[in-house]
Amino acid sequence: MSPDILVIGGGIAGLSAAAALSSNARVWVLEAEEQIGYHSSGRSATMVHYALGDRLVRELTLASRPFFDHPPADFTDVRIGQRMPVLIHAREEEREALDRLDVELSPFARLERLDEAGVHELCPLLKEDALYGLADFNGIRLDPHALLQGNSRALRRLGGALRTGVRVAIIERHGATWSVTSESGESFSAPVLVNAAGSWADQIAMMAGIRPLGLEPKRRTIITFEAPAGTRLESLPFAKTIADELYFAPESGRLFASPMDEVPSEPMDAQPDDYEVALAAYRMEERTTVKVRQIHSKWAGLRTFTPDRHPGVGFAPDCDGFFWLAGQGGFGLQTSPAMAAITASLILGSPWPIADFTPEALSPDRFAAQHA
Ligand SMILES: Cc1cc2nc3c(=O)[nH]c(=O)nc-3n(C[C@H](O)[C@H](O)[C@H](O)COP(=O)(O)OP(=O)(O)OC[C@H]3O[C@@H](n4cnc5c(N)ncnc54)[C@H](O)[C@@H]3O)c2cc1C
Repeated sequence: MSPDILVIGGGIAGLSAAAALSSNARVWVLEAEEQIGYHSSGRSATMVHYALGDRLVRELTLASRPFFDHPPADFTDVRIGQRMPVLIHAREEEREALDRLDVELSPFARLERLDEAGVHELCPLLKEDALYGLADFNGIRLDPHALLQGNSRALRRLGGALRTGVRVAIIERHGATWSVTSESGESFSAPVLVNAAGSWADQIAMMAGIRPLGLEPKRRTIITFEAPAGTRLESLPFAKTIADELYFAPESGRLFASPMDEVPSEPMDAQPDDYEVALAAYRMEERTTVKVRQIHSKWAGLRTFTPDRHPGVGFAPDCDGFFWLAGQGGFGLQTSPAMAAITASLILGSPWPIADFTPEALSPDRFAAQHA
């Protein structure tokens, strides 16, 4: 039997939306790779915190918190996350920026201002010039694989299907039906097609004859390395400079760090570049007392943004039944429960789940003018 809804993309966006839609529709997910979460969703810093993005992103994050704090049944046999404090730190000349962030974040999180002693107590690895801090002791470090698996489990339990190794190559519209053919020649059809193809979402749209949103994939790099002997890794926070220069946190018995690079890229299997790898090590040594003697591992992933850096979620204005779920940038994991609920609301007609903004804020229509 054909599905009601086909979802292209088995990352966190596609799987969480598919799980939410499955309560009232027959949903199939098509993923090009052999494993789910192979691209951006498996390469992130895995945090839930409010220093990411702007007010709308924070609203989406806030609306997602109940899911992370009290996961539903399909997510309770493995821990999808654990508490990790978030510390935003600043030098003397960055103090005003920290004050502004404090004001912006205060509607969303209970924050504590830290003085020099408090900053170094929470993160003893920082150099002496880290004088001011803003701490959210309620941050969450996610397990993205548990999150992806939980969504897949919910999808299957509700009668949906996940097909991996199916790379969509042709998309056609026949009457009121979308017809999709994979590289290997398999065909699928449904009246609604959800485009959750991450960095490839504009390519999927063009395949379907739909106007692209103007998505920009940007590469970000992470390295891991040994912590200094005696470091109490279990009590370290996720520590971020007030400017987007560096973050680091404990990672499987070591440390990870990112120079918060945003290098424009084509949609691809992103690989770390030597320059950003060296920059991560340099900034780590510049802001902390850690010596990065040897890099244990490194990876890169793409964070894909719309032109206004808000997600594009909703039916395409230029063709029936084509639904955009794209542009989750650097916040796609922490906003996935809210984005899935929004998708279900717009496709199935269930109540709009967010009080503080309307569907227009996310609508793909807002990019129509710039393409006209
Ligand atoms: C270094 C880094 C750090 C990050 N840190 C955080 C963080 O701390 N917190 C947070 O919330 N977010 C973070 N993010 C962002 C987050 O990872 C992304 O927003 C999120 O993973 C996007 O999910 P997605 O499902 O849209 O994309 P993806 O996970 O890339 O999934 C898209 C899928 O579509 C598939 N696909 C593409 N084309 C086709 C086709 N033709 N046919 C079939 N399938 C296709 C791809 O194979 C892919 O699996 C980070 C990202 C990076 C790279």
